[in-house]
Amino acid sequence: MNTTRSEGLFAAARRVIPGGVNSPARAYGSVGGTPRFIERGAGASFWDVDGNRYLDYVLSWGPLAVGHAHPAVVKAISQTASRGTSYGAPTATETELAELVVATFPAVDLVRLVNSGTEATMTAVRLARAFTGRTLILKFAGCYHGHADMFLVQAGSAVATLGLPDSPGVPAATTADTLVAPFNDLDNVASLFNDHADEIAAVIVEPVAGNMGVVPPRAGFLDGLQELCRSHGALFILDEVITGFRASPGGAQARWALEPDITCLGKVIGGGLPVGAYGGRRDVMETVAPVGAMYQAGTLSGNPLATSAGLATLHTLQEPGAFDRAESLAGRLASGLQTAAESAVLRLQTAHIGTILGFYFINDDAPPDATIHDYDTAREYADTDRYARFFHALLERGVYFAPSQFEAAFLSTVHTEADIDTTIEAAAAVMQTLRD
Ligand SMILES: *Cc1c(COP(=O)(O)O)cnc(C)c1O
Repeated sequence: MNTTRSEGLFAAARRVIPGGVNSPARAYGSVGGTPRFIERGAGASFWDVDGNRYLDYVLSWGPLAVGHAHPAVVKAISQTASRGTSYGAPTATETELAELVVATFPAVDLVRLVNSGTEATMTAVRLARAFTGRTLILKFAGCYHGHADMFLVQAGSAVATLGLPDSPGVPAATTADTLVAPFNDLDNVASLFNDHADEIAAVIVEPVAGNMGVVPPRAGFLDGLQELCRSHGALFILDEVITGFRASPGGAQARWALEPDITCLGKVIGGGLPVGAYGGRRDVMETVAPVGAMYQAGTLSGNPLATSAGLATLHTLQEPGAFDRAESLAGRLASGLQTAAESAVLRLQTAHIGTILGFYFINDDAPPDATIHDYDTAREYADTDRYARFFHALLERGVYFAPSQFEAAFLSTVHTEADIDTTIEAAAAVMQTLRD
């Protein structure tokens, strides 16, 4: 595969952009090699600058629920752009998108649009602190909530501890107010609530962990969290930036009958343009300025390009049968990969929830019953070297999975059964070569 032009562009980019990328995961750091520079996308595929075509399971890390350059989305964006891109004054489209969110998520009475998932989650925490008058927040190791300071804490040990920052530049004082528990470990959360009675403002969780690979919640975990929050006067923040419009048409909260106090959205609701949102209970949301005193603002928040792209995407996704088809493709791919791994005598752990898919290669020397259910087990049992070889071999065959074992794969309404079967065939051939 010729990648000459990507190599040239990457070299040029590195001269003026740190690492040549505007978001670290794009740099292929964990799999090695040259990131492909993309020229255009259509449907379920994109083409790099050397003319190579890839069937895309990254979909811009989730947002493109209806694929690349969907005609309805392109039309909405171009029609909007011809009338101007931003006014700094309200538009009807913002209300339309907010109405759609409120109609989709019964736990959301009021919603505020922002520009990214990071803005949504960081503001959700500020809001929870403002509403409860408390300071501590509790997150889970391996869950990602954007790059705001207070979230840049991952694992302590198996025993949750007060957080230490993962990144230089994050003051220890900031993360000292972030408690960290292992994902799927309700007892640990209960004991943190006992140790910090009346101090925890909120628990924030990815209902399906999608940033350490894909780890589904154990039965009762999410319910249990909600219950613990209720009984201790803390707010329950569901970070549905990935799972919103993906775990089910109504997100994880519809799938598992949850009633979060605050819901964070992003990715799909912008249809490939920068959007995020946080919303929830009326009394909580009325703490937000200008109704209440908690300040949050944004020059380009709710801008017409992003909101019209989001609306066109969601309307397309909500056409009868569309979501179900994409969901069934995720199942087809997961079971195809599983079968391929078995016939290559490789251990593979797959998960699919709605249109989200994950798969881990399990280390050969992991115990026979090893399963990945949290961050520690993901670090311990996932075979990142084998994943890197798998990734590159599939890339060569024109299939684009995420350049890291610890990311999710996504399906769209424009992937087809034939796409899935081609992918399984390619994966099966590659897996036969991964034994040693
Ligand atoms: C991507 C992501 C975010 C951050 O969203 P950005 O738009 O990248 O700022 C927050 N939470 C989760 C669960 C995410 O996957």
